[in-house]
This record gives sequence, structure tokens and C-alpha cells, in this order.
Amino acid sequence: MAIRTTSPVTGEVLKSFDELTADQLEDKLARAATAAESYRLTTVDQRAEWLGRAADHLEKEADSVSELITTEMGKTYRAAQEEVAKSVHGLRFYAAEGPAYLKDLPADASRVGAKKTYVTYQPIGPVLAVMPWNLPLWQAMRFAAPALTAGNVGLLKHASNVPQTALYMEQLFRDAGFPDDVFQTLLISSGRVEQVLRDERVKAATLTGSEPAGKSVGTIAGSEIKRVVLELGGSDPFIVMPSTNLERATDVAVLARTLNNGQSCINGKRFFVHADIYDAFVASFAAKMGALVVGDPMDESTDVGPLATESGRGDVAAYVDDALGKGAKALVGGKRPEGAGWFYPPTVLTDITPDMNMYHEEVFGPVAQVFRVTSLQQALELANGHPYGLGSNLWSEDEAERQMFIRDVESGMAFINGHTTSYPEIPFGGVKRSGYGRELSDLGMKEFMNAKTVWIGPDAPA
Ligand code: NAP
Repeated sequence: MAIRTTSPVTGEVLKSFDELTADQLEDKLARAATAAESYRLTTVDQRAEWLGRAADHLEKEADSVSELITTEMGKTYRAAQEEVAKSVHGLRFYAAEGPAYLKDLPADASRVGAKKTYVTYQPIGPVLAVMPWNLPLWQAMRFAAPALTAGNVGLLKHASNVPQTALYMEQLFRDAGFPDDVFQTLLISSGRVEQVLRDERVKAATLTGSEPAGKSVGTIAGSEIKRVVLELGGSDPFIVMPSTNLERATDVAVLARTLNNGQSCINGKRFFVHADIYDAFVASFAAKMGALVVGDPMDESTDVGPLATESGRGDVAAYVDDALGKGAKALVGGKRPEGAGWFYPPTVLTDITPDMNMYHEEVFGPVAQVFRVTSLQQALELANGHPYGLGSNLWSEDEAERQMFIRDVESGMAFINGHTTSYPEIPFGGVKRSGYGRELSDLGMKEFMNAKTVWIGPDAPA
């Protein structure tokens, strides 16, 4: 893919970038390896200070960075501001918690014949992050903040349609005072990820993106015996039971399906609604989805901007057309608009059946599938029938239902009376084809650390 910023509102190419030449890439890898040698010896308190400065810089530049995000991928300016604020919080969170997270973990020496034994967490060196465009700052920041706290060095291969956000991040860490080359952006196409990952100076990788990309990077990492975290797609269930507050559940259902213009791995995508409240839910949900304002993402009154890429919009339209052609009903939306830009209206579909492509895959746009169920058991069977298992959502006031959901839903995250969201404080990740490994919290940071066991024997008798 060409590396360039293209406006999702007009389709106009705004800025193009040359890919790194072979020599430039080699130079960056060499620099990363050199930087890793000294950066690993810095103290976590020093790293925390740099992280804090990065947060301050980003906070000062929030308006221009938000505009850049909106320009590159089309989310509303309001949503971009929230993304920047979250990134600032993520930096401050690791600055505050990093020193505690990195403390040695003592163990019982007497049970292993030692005078002292403990686990010490050490950085492993340069880590490659292959990142998607949908949360161009936060997604890359949630790799960068824990990695830099840990004492690792970051190499960012961002999605080809958000190069300016990628370059901004490199600049941000430099301006914050981090040593040279501790965080570098690599402007390369996805075809060159293999070369970088096979390079012996690169110690591990994390990829957030589609299943095909995950398979490729996971296979390469496996063949090199390198650690990899994969955060792939999701088709999160959103289960609504009769005991819940319907007004609130429908409000959050709309948000869950449309945040980030419907292009988030953790959007609620499949809505399983109990028959007792199905008609009321569907009427309210469809009305609220239909009332959303679609338009220029810089406009304050806009709720849903365009999709980020032309091909992404084409994929969404193809899923909907396929479903409608096989008997699905569109309560609102369902038609690709004419005109400039890659807009797609909020859409609510019912009568979805397993022969439709969207039933088994992920629709990356504001399209909700609603299913009528007669029990939580049935909702869980349908939810778990999908190959993905990233987030999941239950709306219920019934404690027994909540416990059943927590026990039986096949997902990496189970949210009750809310929608799945990432927080630096708690782990994020999936099961099944949504990938493996965790981001965020101390777990995410320790994915890329050597948990070194230290055993110190008793002093030799005199
Ligand atoms: P994508 O095509 O897989 O792209 C993601 C990144 O991977 C980009 O940097 C891309 O580079 C690179 N890439 C693509 N194919 C590759 C390959 N074969 N080898 C190495 N790198 C490769 O994904 P997308 O369609 O843009 O993003 C949407 C997907 O990401 C959705 O499935 C969504 O659910 C998932 N996602 C998951 C999470 C999560 O945390 N689980 C979060 C956000 C998004 P180029 O841009 O140069 O092609």
C-alpha cells in the first residue's frame, strides 16, 4: 500500500511519503540496537520522568493532533480528542505505576535451598509494533508507553494511511527527552515486516490488525522463536436481558456499535436480545441509530464520520448487500450513499442467518446485527459460535445471569452493564481467532520482558 494521507471525506490524496530505502532501514535497525544497549541501563524513575514529559507535550498539542487524526482516518474531531486524552492518561499511568510494576518479585528461599530467590523483570531490546489505523494514536501508544517504561526500544510500523500520526509519535518521544532512537517510526510497506521481524536485532513483535496479518506475523515470529502478541478482529456480542434498564442499554448499544465510526475491534457488533423485550429494544435502537448525524467529522454536530478507506467501505457495503440479498431486513440504513467520501449510514439488520457472510466474519463499519433469543443460554451459544472472542457485553441485573455469563462467554474480556473499552489499568486482549497475549496493565508490559529467576545459594561453610 502506498504510504500517504488520503482524506476519507473527499478521497483526495493530501500528502505522500517515500518508503525507507534498504540503507535507511538498515540504519534505523542499527540505531535501535545501539539505543537498546544503553536504554536498558536507565532507571525506571528516569523513564517515568520522560513519559510524564511526553504526556505534557501531547496535552499541549491535543488540538492539532486531534485534527491530524481526524484528517487521516475520518473519526469525529470529538472522538479524536477523546483518543488524545486517553493517550495522555496512558502515558501518565505508566509513569506512575511503572516503578511498582517493575519491582522484583520475591519467592520463598527456604523451599528451594537458597539464601534468597526472586524474579527480576528485564527489558529484551527492540520490539516491532505493527499497528492499525483505526485508533492511530492510542493503539500505538498502548504499545509504546509500557514498552518504554520496561526499558525496551520501540520500532513502529504503522498502517500506511496514517503516516503523519506515526511520524508525530517519533517526534513526541524525542521532544520529551527520551534518548535518540529509543522510539523510531519505520515508513515501510507490510511486505517488509518479515525482513524486520527476522532481523536478529529485533527481539519480539506485537501486531494489532486483521486475521491474515496476524497469521503471517505469528508464523514468522514462531519460526524465529520470538515472542509475539496478536490483537486481531472481533465481533463482540452485546446481550440484553429483560431485567435491564432498556433506555440505558439502547443508548449504550448505539455508542457501542458506532464509536470510531463503527471501526473498532471492540464495537458491539452482534446484539442478542431477549424475546420479552425484543420489540421494545429494536424499536428504540433503530430509532436512535437512524437519528445519528452522518457527515463532516470536523463538524461538531456530526456523530458518525466516513469510513477510513474506500476498500473498507466497499467491504461493509458488500457484507450488507450479501445479507439483504439472502433475506435480512434493514430497519435503518443499508444503502451505500452516492457522492464524495467513504460514508456509510448507521444500519440495523434483523433476520440474519448463518448463510450470510457477516454471520461468521467481522463487519468494520456501523452495521448492527440483531438476534432474538429466548434465554441467556441461547444467547451464549450463538455468541460463542463465532470464531472471534475479543470483548463481550451483558446487560442484566440478575446475579445468576451475570455469573453464568462470566463463566461461559468465550472472550478475553467480559463487560457487564457497559460496553467493552480499553483502560491502561486493566488487561486487554482476546481468545480464539481474536489472538493471544495481553496489552496494557502490568501483564501487557511483561509480555515483552525477561522474567529472570535469581537464586542465591547459602554461603559456603567456613
Ligand atoms: P490490517 O490490514 O491487518 O493492517 C494492520 C497493520 O498490519 C497495518 O500496519 C498493515 O500495514 C499491516 N499488515 C497488513 N498485512 C500484513 C501482513 N501480511 N504482514 C505484516 N503486516 C501486515 O488491518 P486493518 O484492516 O487495517 O485494521 C482493522 C483490523 O484490525 C480489524 O480486523 C480490527 O478488528 C483489528 N483491530 C484489532 C484490535 C485489537 O486490539 N484486537 C484493535 C484495533 C483493530 P499496511 O497498512 O501497510 O497494509
